Amino acid sequence: MKKQFKSESKRLLDLMINSIYTNKDIFLRELISNSSDALDKLYFNSFTDKKLKVDKDKLEINIKVNEENRTITISDNGIGMNKEELENNLGTIAKSGSLAFKEANSDKETIDIIGQFGVGFYSAFMVSDKITVISKSNDDKAYMWTSEGADGYTISETEKENIGTDIILHIKNDTDEVKYSDYLTEFKIRNLVKIYSDYIRYPIKMEVSVDDKKEQQVLNSMIPLWKKNKNEVKEDELNNFYIDKYYDYEKPLKVIQSSVEGLTSYKSLLFIPSHAPFDYYTKDYEKGLSLYSNGVLIMDKCSELLPDYFSFVKGVVDSEDISLNISRELLQSTKSVSIIAKNIETKIKKELEEMLEKDRDNYIKFFNAFGSQLKFGVYNNYGMDKDKLKDLLLFYSSVSKKLITLKEYINNMKKDQEFIYYASGNSVDAIDNLPQVEKVKDKGYEILYFTDYLDEFAINALMEYENKKFINVSSDELDIDDEQEKEKTNKLNEECKELLNEMKELLNVTDVKFTSRLKNHPVCLTTKGNISIEMEKVINAMPTDEKVNAQTVLEINENHPIANKMKDLYKTDKKEFEKYTKILYSEARLIEGLPLDNPSEISNLICEVISK
Ligand code: ADP
Repeated sequence: MKKQFKSESKRLLDLMINSIYTNKDIFLRELISNSSDALDKLYFNSFTDKKLKVDKDKLEINIKVNEENRTITISDNGIGMNKEELENNLGTIAKSGSLAFKEANSDKETIDIIGQFGVGFYSAFMVSDKITVISKSNDDKAYMWTSEGADGYTISETEKENIGTDIILHIKNDTDEVKYSDYLTEFKIRNLVKIYSDYIRYPIKMEVSVDDKKEQQVLNSMIPLWKKNKNEVKEDELNNFYIDKYYDYEKPLKVIQSSVEGLTSYKSLLFIPSHAPFDYYTKDYEKGLSLYSNGVLIMDKCSELLPDYFSFVKGVVDSEDISLNISRELLQSTKSVSIIAKNIETKIKKELEEMLEKDRDNYIKFFNAFGSQLKFGVYNNYGMDKDKLKDLLLFYSSVSKKLITLKEYINNMKKDQEFIYYASGNSVDAIDNLPQVEKVKDKGYEILYFTDYLDEFAINALMEYENKKFINVSSDELDIDDEQEKEKTNKLNEECKELLNEMKELLNVTDVKFTSRLKNHPVCLTTKGNISIEMEKVINAMPTDEKVNAQTVLEINENHPIANKMKDLYKTDKKEFEKYTKILYSEARLIEGLPLDNPSEISNLICEVISK
């Protein structure tokens, strides 16, 4: 007699049968997990039930493919089900599955959940038009459960020699959209086991043809690396695992193994790659760790486990405290996931700090690959995470001529030094040749050279480090002169107010002034306010409508012969004065790597002046 499914199950079943979801692959993972659970149950029951004779080494899962009959049979010699259990377990949705089901109200969302996480046994209806389950528990007889989908199921008595369960899937015929026949190939099955069920603790065997002979092969590796003790795993094994799984050609820079016991227990195996993947700095890159629930893959890239600034980390997390049927929507609100994520973040940070301290060469390699991501992390989200990350940053030092931390900078500071000096440019050489840099160096201050455009953005978010403010040596506010020098400069600027004003109008800049900040160079360009020239370049190069203008100030070396020349010309020859003004300003722009509005005019002017 045909029995009806419970209404809730029926609805789910409908969705399965007519599933528009493309990832039908997960059905095998679900059935293998059920078998694995059944083997677990039998094994554990055998401790208390003396009638159960279990040889642990014989517990296994078997897959048989019959291409002709279009069937796949998944068998286990686990606990099995009696009639009542078949009815209860396969006639209704199991609790874990129905939870996810109820969470979603609309059919659309339900399908997403099913597609990604499955709801156990029923997912087999995505690929089958008929399923037969033959099961025998320790009780007595064997029973057969059969269903062709939504219109119900039948249960009848049958014969079966040993306890356990056979699930026989009758694979659907191919359609225009889906080639179901693929599931009937050894290649596909092998592949699915490798991807989803490699770490199931019991052997998953399949009969395969080797040189015209049939042979049983074990498809899964069974023991996950991360479940082994640290001292049992060789470095080579870890490196090979990484290279295999993440398609890298280089071994990882750092392997981080942890085993955490507590409210939420988990094991994790994390890798810091030695170079950035080719798509790392593109929007195609997907961060995340593979999430396993007791050896079974739940999600390949669980992004909730990694903060954006550590998105370069690869690896796996395995926790018994996370349910197999957890949905992506539920993941974010799942406490154990956020606890694990927090722990992992702390662990990665600690490992990086340790590498920074004890293995500087490797840390520099790491920083060259992923430093930009850390800097991005500093200013992203309105600088929310800046304090966590600031000690992981490195900048090039004008003194030691290598990358240093901010802490090291502070430790090297002169006694009366108030600021952290920095300068930006395209390369270390270009910065080193900036006129503004010369005098600051001469006064004995260390300068951080920012060659990555993100440096300045990160520093702007930090604002200060250990109460020392950052200052760009090209900032108008730079103040490194002693009182005497300052007074002299102020006086000169006051005297030449009109001259400077005329230059300013001519050039359309924020200000023009004489300066004592230059040593040998005649002119330089500085800025007022928060936007430096380098930042202007970067922001304006971005493909957005947002354009900014740095407030530029032309500064003229008060001790350079050109200062007097300008004063003379201002009095004697206004025409020449104008030409010189334009040339000086162009020089200052060229030094900063900025374009000239009218290069041919300037080159003509220069020629005119030098041919005199
Ligand atoms: P879940 O695995 O989430 O509980 P399923 O729909 O996959 O949901 O399975 C329902 C129930 O059927 C399982 O909880 C289990 O009791 C039983 N079951 C499924 N497959 C097997 C099997 N191979 N051996 C024994 N029992 C099984």
